[in-house]
Amino acid sequence: MTLAEAPNAETIRQTAVDLATKIKSGELSAVEVTRSHLDRIAEVDGEIHAFLYVDGERALASAARVDAKIAAGEPVGPLAGVPLALKDILTYTGAPTTCGSKILEGWLPPYDATVTRRLLDHDMVILGKTNLDEFAMGSSTENSAYGPTRNPWDTSRIPGGSGGGSAAAVAAFEAPLAIGTDTGGSIRQPAAVTGTVGVKPTYGGSSRYGLVALASSLDQPGPCARSVLDAALLHQVIAGHDPCDSTSIDQPVPDVVTAARSADVSRMKIGVVTELGGEGYAPGVEQRFNEAVELLASLGAEIIEVSCPHFVYALPTYYLILPAECSSNLAKFDAMRFGLRVGDDGFASAEQVMAATREAGFGAEVKRRIIIGTYALSSGYYEAYYGQAQKVRTLISRDFDQAFSQADVLVSPSTPITAFKIGEKVDDPLAMYRNDLCTIPSNLAGNASASFPVGLAPEDGLPVGFQVMAPPLADDRLYRVGGALEAALHSAWNGPLLDRLPDPGALR
Ligand code: GLN
Repeated sequence: MTLAEAPNAETIRQTAVDLATKIKSGELSAVEVTRSHLDRIAEVDGEIHAFLYVDGERALASAARVDAKIAAGEPVGPLAGVPLALKDILTYTGAPTTCGSKILEGWLPPYDATVTRRLLDHDMVILGKTNLDEFAMGSSTENSAYGPTRNPWDTSRIPGGSGGGSAAAVAAFEAPLAIGTDTGGSIRQPAAVTGTVGVKPTYGGSSRYGLVALASSLDQPGPCARSVLDAALLHQVIAGHDPCDSTSIDQPVPDVVTAARSADVSRMKIGVVTELGGEGYAPGVEQRFNEAVELLASLGAEIIEVSCPHFVYALPTYYLILPAECSSNLAKFDAMRFGLRVGDDGFASAEQVMAATREAGFGAEVKRRIIIGTYALSSGYYEAYYGQAQKVRTLISRDFDQAFSQADVLVSPSTPITAFKIGEKVDDPLAMYRNDLCTIPSNLAGNASASFPVGLAPEDGLPVGFQVMAPPLADDRLYRVGGALEAALHSAWNGPLLDRLPDPGALR
């Protein structure tokens, strides 16, 4: 069975914007649309495992409320009634938030993340929570304590990480939209390897309140979608100033929706980053990237080469700053306040309970990073590691400033390689970290960045992502480039890339 033959195909294959229009006009009800996606989840998620938690009853009840509001002629949000999935690192009152970790098993957050609140205030319908690498540390979703998510293009392969669940849910048509979070690439790398769109807003552009912190100076929630306009609409719903997040930017959200619609790159100057390509990049990734650059040139963009010499240090810099911040952020999981508590026999000391709980509750990658971070922050080493990394971070930001003085946006492949096999890199952390080579610089500098699908690599038939990076608060430029690529590629392909997805529903 292909996707087109699935019983609910007609509904689940539509874009979020089309669903929203039909729900608003009464052609479809939010309840029907939600039910179709819940059916799809029931059909394929046994195979894909994108979700850690689905609450169909709650989703249908909120869909019914949206239908009632529309029937009563009350004003509703631009994506009213559209269902979506939430990465399980953002709180949603009453729904378990595990962060993919055993240590939070059973914890029910008493409050909504600001992003969650905005979704609900805009009348969107939350289907459930998606799988991720434990505390968002990883590039494959294999570090989830609840088992890996599978890539809908080939279920023996990884869907990227840490937000593999959100990307796979969208790619497998289990949800038209999802929320991800990006600290080093966790929205963009999963988007790249699943043939979907993923956007990391400018740091401070979307609120981190209620996002369980991995590395507070890098974390940023953003949209996962199948089309550029859908991503823009979701971006607009979730972005904007939040007094609950001290790093939130108090400025208007760039007009990403108009930019996605205009899709105009003529007169734009696009810089190809010299350092993000070459050795270690798969031939098919480079081929599709180069073709997309040529396509942008044919649409009127001016293409230049730009050098960012310090980008080669981005990976080691990130893998000092991130562990340093996460070792501090994860110290709150002390067996006293949240979730799991092990070894409390009434006689054990607090330290003994803490140690036993962390030993049992944290997985290997989380422990590795806590140890690296604690070491990098320890007295005597602080300057040599953390302090040095912060200086290199500044040099990387300056590279961006320099590059953006020459070009409106910068481009590169989103990832060096396509989706690899589940299990292939679990024993080689450095090989796993290399997936983030292209995405990390934008987290370190805090600028806006996105991944758009540009075809399948000829050697393995797997999706390739095209990364676009824009200056801080120029998120709209990402959507102009993404929209232009999408329009041109869809007409060349006779439809979206995901039309070629082998239906995972047929694999049961
Ligand atoms: N792969 C990166 C890491 O393991 C990405 C993390 C993220 O963006 N959450 O740290």
